[in-house]
Amino acid sequence: MGCSPALERLDSVTTPQSIVVLGSTGSIGTSSLDVIRSHPDRMRLLGATAFRSGKRLLNQAIEFQPDWILLGDEAAAKQIDTTSLAPKTQFFAGNSQLDQLIRSDATDTVISAIVGAAGLQATWAAVDAGKRVALANKESLVVAGAIITARAAETGALIFPVDSEHSAIFQALQTGRKQDLRRIVLTASGGPFRGWTLEQMKTVTPEMALKHPTWEMGPKITVDSATMMNKALEIIEARWLFGVSADQISVVVHPQSFIHSFVEYRDGSVISQMSPPDMRLPIQYALTFPDRIECPCPDTDWTVASSMELFPPDFEAFPALQLGFEVAKSGGTAGAILNAANEIAVDRFLKHEIRFDQITQVSHNVLNHHTYDAQPTLEQLQQADHWAREEALRWNS
Ligand code: NAD
Ligand code: MG
Repeated sequence: MGCSPALERLDSVTTPQSIVVLGSTGSIGTSSLDVIRSHPDRMRLLGATAFRSGKRLLNQAIEFQPDWILLGDEAAAKQIDTTSLAPKTQFFAGNSQLDQLIRSDATDTVISAIVGAAGLQATWAAVDAGKRVALANKESLVVAGAIITARAAETGALIFPVDSEHSAIFQALQTGRKQDLRRIVLTASGGPFRGWTLEQMKTVTPEMALKHPTWEMGPKITVDSATMMNKALEIIEARWLFGVSADQISVVVHPQSFIHSFVEYRDGSVISQMSPPDMRLPIQYALTFPDRIECPCPDTDWTVASSMELFPPDFEAFPALQLGFEVAKSGGTAGAILNAANEIAVDRFLKHEIRFDQITQVSHNVLNHHTYDAQPTLEQLQQADHWAREEALRWNS
């Protein structure tokens, strides 16, 4: 994986890490700040970015007093009154300085928690500069997994997964050797429409899709979880992070979201990582590996009876899953196309322009019409992303 041989030699991070949080006002961003707040001896917020949520970003800066904050949207940045900022905190309007801030020697670790392919450029800067990267932005690996992991191997950047399933796999992989791994099994909650038929899905409204049974997340990933496109993206993410083939990845539905994934070794042993669903644990592990320290997250309650169920996924009701396997197999430009088409389709669904079940149809259709390239450059991937967005915007049933 992007984080394999060097990890075995990794020592504890003893001096406080200077951390940049990209997307600090989002769901992962605020959970990341909770973790940083809990460990002032080990972690310091160096910089934070948001897109439009200027007020929230400003309040975070007043509490954490980072060296800098950056608001990506220039129009939103004009509305910001920076007089309440500590004198040491510099304010940047727009993205022109972001690359340089990420690459600065002052930055030890980057938490990549922007949503969508918009996070790719910043993730790339962190990897290219050889930083420790806590990666929540799965879309950057879906779009450019081959290039990012290859570059990490060259620069020495360590990519630690924040996605709970991938963190679980990474943790479970500490118990064996890569050559003995048979398969990875990603767990999926199944989302709010588990057990529904494809026909029933036609009636799903944005309000219904935005309610997730076990996780509190940003709107885009919440809709992705409801279509199970999130699991499709995670299959592709796992393919690149752990250097496995699509055939070595399975998905199992586990509604309680307590088992965060499994690895199966060739002797048949299955190892998993479990904990109450709370993203602060995988975020913290990405920041402290190889150490395990107290976490500001809930503990397992061993005094109550509970059950953990596992079901095979319904590929007919959730056709997005099959797309995930296909794209993980094809590689090349396919991930960029799937991701971009899905981003637009989710947006159009939230604007009531298309039906819920059509989100996956759009993605499938755009994927089928694209001109495949097996070894695209980063620039070609950006062009593929752009093309797929136009196509998905034009799509009509
Ligand atoms: P969110 O919508 O809650 O937050 C997104 C953050 O990104 C905000 O700070 C926002 O200001 C910023 N942002 C949005 N658009 C931007 C743009 N164009 N340019 C720069 N910044 C922008 O999203 P989230 O749920 O925190 O998810 C963030 C990432 O983490 C996603 O890639 C998601 O798939 C992944 N992830 C999230 C969870 C979760 O529990 N929320 C779990 C696993 C993985
Ligand atoms: Mg996940």
